[in-house]
This record gives sequence, structure tokens and C-alpha cells, in this order.
Amino acid sequence: MTAHSLVLATRNEHKLSELRAILAETGVDVTGVISAAEVDGPDVQETGVTFAENALLKARALVAHTGLPAVADDSGFAVDVLGGSPGVFSVYWAGRARDDAANNALLLEQLEDVGPEHRGAQFVCAGALVTPDGREEVREGIVRGRLLAEPIGERGFGYDPLFMPEGHDRSYAQLTHQEKNAISHRSRAFRELAPLIAQALASH
Ligand code: IMP
Repeated sequence: MTAHSLVLATRNEHKLSELRAILAETGVDVTGVISAAEVDGPDVQETGVTFAENALLKARALVAHTGLPAVADDSGFAVDVLGGSPGVFSVYWAGRARDDAANNALLLEQLEDVGPEHRGAQFVCAGALVTPDGREEVREGIVRGRLLAEPIGERGFGYDPLFMPEGHDRSYAQLTHQEKNAISHRSRAFRELAPLIAQALASH
């Protein structure tokens, strides 16, 4: 019996603390929850064409590597008039440099002539839980809103400054961590997944 009972498939400290906070908030005991870095998790090629497929690929690889239940997420920004792109290509939209500023600039340029009424967009997150006995669960969280005409706000990362969530008058990049966590696509997906994660922890 190991002291660890569940692995989160991310090495990103920001995402880890966000996920731990969301799980703790929903009553999951996170003491046994460790990160992919702590188990020297494998690098996984995100070859899927949906968020769900990519989240499952990451979680399955970690289960195979550790023999523990694993949780992974995959997320991105989807613009309606682009048919849901950047989507799973969010991180590479302007090339392969993981360059947020270049991604944002390219997206704004592509949609320069698109009026406010056609700038609907959403953030999407798929959260996946895979257990060693082969159980696979995916839950999706979506936040609707619109693509701004120019970046607003200094916080967050990625496409945050370009996104005005529906029912709000501040962009994702103007929200504090706590405010963003309260409404984000990631927290929606993980709130849905949390009861299943609690079950997996209890039965492992
Ligand atoms: P991944 O889930 O780490 O693969 O995220 C892929 C990419 O989607 C990120 O690098 C960002 O470009 C974008 N993205 C996902 N979630 C967010 C968010 O909360 N804010 C801004 N960009 C995001």
C-alpha cells in the first residue's frame, strides 16, 4: 500500500494548485494527491483531435506508469466563427513556440473584420479520470463569452485577456485567481468529476 493514492497529470504548478483547490473545495481529501513530476511521469503526445481524447491519453499514460488512478485535463479556447478553433491547437496557434502574445495577436488579426455580434467564443476543459481497473470518466466544463477586439487585463495566461465571460464586465485576465476559479471552465469540469475522484480515492 502506498501513501499516494492519485496522480494529477500535470507538471504545471499553477494548474496543480488550481486543481487541488477545486478538489479540496468540493470535499475531496487531497493529502494523497501527487503530481506527474513526483512520479517522473511520461511525456505524452497530444495526438487527439478533441479535448476529451487528449485528457484520456494523458491519464491513461500515467495509470500505466504508476498503477495509480490518474486525473488529467485538456483545455483550450474555441471561437464560434472559426468552427471551434484554436481548440486543441490553442497552445500552438501561431506556430510551435507556446507564445501567448503571438497566439493572441494572430487570433485578433484573423478576426479583425468580424463584428461584435459574431464574436461568440468559449473556453472548454475536459477532465478525465482513469483507474487501474480500466474505468474511464470524462466531464466537460464550458464557459461562454465573447472574443474582445483587443487584449484587456494583465492577469492569468494564454487567451485570458481576449475573453469576456458572459454575464461579466471584466475579462478573464482582470479576474483574481479566486474569481476565475469560481467560474472557470476548468473548475466546472472538475466539480463534475470531483465525486468520481472521491470514489476512486476511497476504493483504491
Ligand atoms: P492545456 O490544457 O494545458 O493543454 O492548455 C492548452 C492551451 O489552451 C493553453 O496553453 C492556453 O493557450 C489555452 N487555455 C486553456 N485554458 C486556459 C485558460 O484558463 N486561460 C487562457 N488560456 C487557456
